[in-house]
Amino acid sequence: MMEQEELYDMIVVGAGPAGCTAAKFAADAGLNVLLLERMKLPREKSCSGFLIQKSVRFIEQHYGNMPENVFCKPENTSGFILTNEDGKEFRFESPGFNIWRGAFDKWLAEKAEDAGAVVADNSFVTNIAETESKYLNVFLNNGAVFKTKYAVICEGTVGNLKNKITAHQGYKNEKIITYQTFCRGSVRLDPKFFYAFLQAEFSEYDAWVNFKDDLIIFGVAVENAEKIQRYHQKFELFLKSEYGLSVLEIVKEEKWLMPKILPECRKDTVYGRILFAGEAAGFLNPMGEGISSAFITGKAAAYSVKTALEAENMPPARLKEIYEKEIEPEYNYMLRQWKLIGGMSARFFQQL
Ligand SMILES: Cc1cc2nc3c(=O)[nH]c(=O)nc-3n(C[C@H](O)[C@H](O)[C@H](O)COP(=O)(O)OP(=O)(O)OC[C@H]3O[C@@H](n4cnc5c(N)ncnc54)[C@H](O)[C@@H]3O)c2cc1C
Repeated sequence: MMEQEELYDMIVVGAGPAGCTAAKFAADAGLNVLLLERMKLPREKSCSGFLIQKSVRFIEQHYGNMPENVFCKPENTSGFILTNEDGKEFRFESPGFNIWRGAFDKWLAEKAEDAGAVVADNSFVTNIAETESKYLNVFLNNGAVFKTKYAVICEGTVGNLKNKITAHQGYKNEKIITYQTFCRGSVRLDPKFFYAFLQAEFSEYDAWVNFKDDLIIFGVAVENAEKIQRYHQKFELFLKSEYGLSVLEIVKEEKWLMPKILPECRKDTVYGRILFAGEAAGFLNPMGEGISSAFITGKAAAYSVKTALEAENMPPARLKEIYEKEIEPEYNYMLRQWKLIGGMSARFFQQL
């Protein structure tokens, strides 16, 4: 076991939007921060890459202008169009950006590094445990152990630390499987919009279409992995008959996970001196939009740790209070979003 000498104020696990933002804000505030990412950066993350206006505003205010390589075409998006189980269309027009997640998240990590955080990719965290000296030990799969006063887990849906840490609570962190194909071809849909379809025959959750450069991407979300191909084929047939989809070539297939959000929207915030942010905290908006919440909860986690460090020996219950107060508006926003979708699709809301 490789013991590292340095004691960090805060170690962040996961260099997605939540982790990079937590690391950046904490480093900006003068904290000694280590950001650990299990993959080599830039890493792939299955995502439609739609930045809604709320995300764009956060980026403009806190990160500045994005570099060219982050964008894909069409760079400017117009919103999303939802079709419910009865075929009724709801249109939400709101300007946003279309980005590649690999390049985008790498840029966010560079911003955290510019602020003074140490960023270590290829660093897989296997566990986090309290020590007798009231610090946390952060264990890596290569045998290294880092010491920190606080840890912020931003592992997204794919991580397993949350399961380990919250196991005693008896909760099951349920997940949904997403499957999407990237195709060359044509379809009679506007590339500036994200399209969501809630008809039960296409998915157990939602089915969608979006566009990146010259690629048409369409996918489905299911709970039962065995049903993925069947739903995807039905959805493809529907797109062919309703919107003239013509697939010339399938360039890529992608499977991923999403948290299964239930109507009460359970959140996980603070366990001792470990905080959760982003999807790991349970934040995801309907239609799978999660980047804006990742930003807001990551920033709130950094603020809460900074406040706890200033107070010295702050009881965990007080830290939880501070963090939950910070993220309350975002949590209420998420509840409102799920209610809004519930009003548009009884089927979608009932099955959650
Ligand atoms: C198919 C699909 C489409 C989506 N489309 C959109 C969209 O268009 N717009 C939008 O806003 N949201 C979208 N989302 C949701 C969005 O991707 C997530 O909500 C967002 O990425 C959450 O950010 P995060 O920082 O919490 O986690 P992530 O972005 O998932 O980052 C977690 C990071 O932690 C790392 N990690 C995990 N475990 C460990 C470990 N043990 N040690 C070290 N590192 C670890 C992972 O490698 C990863 O880099 C989509 C999701 C899916 C699946």
